[in-house]
Amino acid sequence: MKLIKIETGNFMADGGALFGVIPKMMWQKHYPVDEDNYCNLAMRCLLIDMGNRKVLIDTGAGTKQSDKFFSWHRLNGEASLIDSLAKEGYSPDDITDVVLTHLHWDHCGGCVYYDDDNKAKVTFANAAHWVSKIQWDNYIKPNSREGVVYFPDNMMPVYNAGLINLIEEDGIIIPGIEIKLLNGHTAGNMLPIIHHNNGKLAFMGDLIPVLPSIRLPWVSAYDTSPLISIEEKKAFLVEAVENGIALFFEHDINTECCVLTKTEKGIVADKTPTLREVTQNND
Ligand SMILES: [Zn+2]
Repeated sequence: MKLIKIETGNFMADGGALFGVIPKMMWQKHYPVDEDNYCNLAMRCLLIDMGNRKVLIDTGAGTKQSDKFFSWHRLNGEASLIDSLAKEGYSPDDITDVVLTHLHWDHCGGCVYYDDDNKAKVTFANAAHWVSKIQWDNYIKPNSREGVVYFPDNMMPVYNAGLINLIEEDGIIIPGIEIKLLNGHTAGNMLPIIHHNNGKLAFMGDLIPVLPSIRLPWVSAYDTSPLISIEEKKAFLVEAVENGIALFFEHDINTECCVLTKTEKGIVADKTPTLREVTQNND
């Protein structure tokens, strides 16, 4: 099994929203912020090459939304989903499975693109797309807060192509990939844990978007149920430290992974290795 990071570009989010009720005096010591109070966030996906199966977790923002929408979010960086896959020697047709933590625009936008005739096309036409049923229902009928972060053209072409697999409970969905269903950030948010040759790696998605968010009360204002987020984060951190699960960050611009340790002050980051260091280039 080979684990490869796939950078798909960056966007900027308001630091106050990213760190919720935490005062800027505290969070600005731990994450870079610009003069407009924006924090730059990666959209770092993960490719798991098992030989016969090639699994991609999340797909970034894609290219479909309007220039106006993308300018609000200040998309930046050179990387793109298709280029990053190509650099590693993969074409979209090689991907057999796409696992989507949830369907907010910055996690699933790469699933569909518009071709030269402005027709919507599924990017990974040979792939089963795994989504939780609770999240899918939320996407189809969004609540008043999340309507603005879901776009029908991000997933409906995938649905119409018959490529959606809905997950209803925790467990192993593909050999080596375990899913836990969470509800704090959004209903039916999935936490994938990859069992690789040298240990376990959790794909954090928006449960712990950036390294400083390991602290329990540091919950983003984007979360729909912050108290549930705190409980879910607490339970995950205990499990991770007890079982030696490393963390892979989708959104932290500077930090790919971290390994935890238990101290008198609670569970904290011990080291921040790269993905290559965590997996020791296993195959
Ligand atoms: Zn999200």
